[in-house]
Amino acid sequence: MTGDFTLADLPLRADLVGAEPYGAPQLVVPVVLNVNENPYPPSEAVRREMAEAVVATAGSLNRYPEREALALRKDLAAYLGHGLRPENIWAANGSNEIMSQLLTAFGGPGRKVLAFTPTYSMYPEYARNTCTSYVTVPRRPDHTLDARLVLDAIAEHDPTVVLVTTPNNPTGTSTGLDVIEEVAANTDAVIVVDEAYQEFSQGPSALELLPRFPRLVVSRTMSKAFALAGGRVGYLAAHPAVVDACRIVRLPYHLSAQTQAVARVALRHGDELLARVDELAAEARGLQQWLRERGYDVVPSDANFVLFGRFPDRHRVWQQLLDRGVLIRETGPEGYLRASAGTPDEMAALRDALTDIAPTLE
Ligand code: PMP
Repeated sequence: MTGDFTLADLPLRADLVGAEPYGAPQLVVPVVLNVNENPYPPSEAVRREMAEAVVATAGSLNRYPEREALALRKDLAAYLGHGLRPENIWAANGSNEIMSQLLTAFGGPGRKVLAFTPTYSMYPEYARNTCTSYVTVPRRPDHTLDARLVLDAIAEHDPTVVLVTTPNNPTGTSTGLDVIEEVAANTDAVIVVDEAYQEFSQGPSALELLPRFPRLVVSRTMSKAFALAGGRVGYLAAHPAVVDACRIVRLPYHLSAQTQAVARVALRHGDELLARVDELAAEARGLQQWLRERGYDVVPSDANFVLFGRFPDRHRVWQQLLDRGVLIRETGPEGYLRASAGTPDEMAALRDALTDIAPTLE
């Protein structure tokens, strides 16, 4: 009876008509190196403690969770250090919910968010969903940013929110604190520094600039270095006024009791969960070196992934790798592919598959 009913029959918002749900393919293959996850699951002991923490929350699942997630925010503040307090921290279901809340609060109809391309492919989606105009300015040819470029772009577009991703996804390029400091000192826009991959980076965090710039926001995630992508926990550090803005737009009880409990166990075992960060950064550096020696064009990466090319037909190379059980990501500038750092065996599988394919390079 309703079999021929489709999305076209629904009053979808005009700007969403024709849009497709977005996301990297989730395929079951032996070697998954496509979404910059940490390849190491929590140990048996940590798993058990997470399970026990979830059981403990189950005793009051008839009640709503702690709406302000204060205990979790206290633990996150302690993890970040830099003199941050719980009122400087806000947490949500992944840093993509953090970013959506920031754009809901500071973007919206008639306002712009500015980003520097190539960059994270979800930003235009957050912008669209919050009815914020997404404006982009290209990075320099080597994918770096300098203060002049950012400030000129701000002067040209007059955004209320500026996204600086460091290390940047998909290029792995870091932006120095001197650049962020000069930008923050010369604009009234909210500068969101997306540090999703900061733990892998050799450079300092923008957290140290927070005391001087109340419009500066540092966004972080437990999905990457903390190996908790499935737990869905992202957070920000900023002036308490920014946190107040997020508290206005968040859905009530947005962070489930189980999420809060599991994240707190993960933070208690931070040393163990973060133990592989240096090793993964070293795998990414090793892969860069290996690729360079074989004539690939490799973008210098300060993160746990590597962007490389240039392939006349990148989709073909992506498919050939997949045929050999290795899933990487077709993203970034035309002709390039991105691979995450995995275990030594996974990296060997990627190198073997590339050697086997011997792709044509431009
Ligand atoms: N920012 C950047 C730059 C990312 O690459 C990602 C994940 N790929 C995110 C934010 C979102 O991560 P999550 O929602 O898992 O915290």
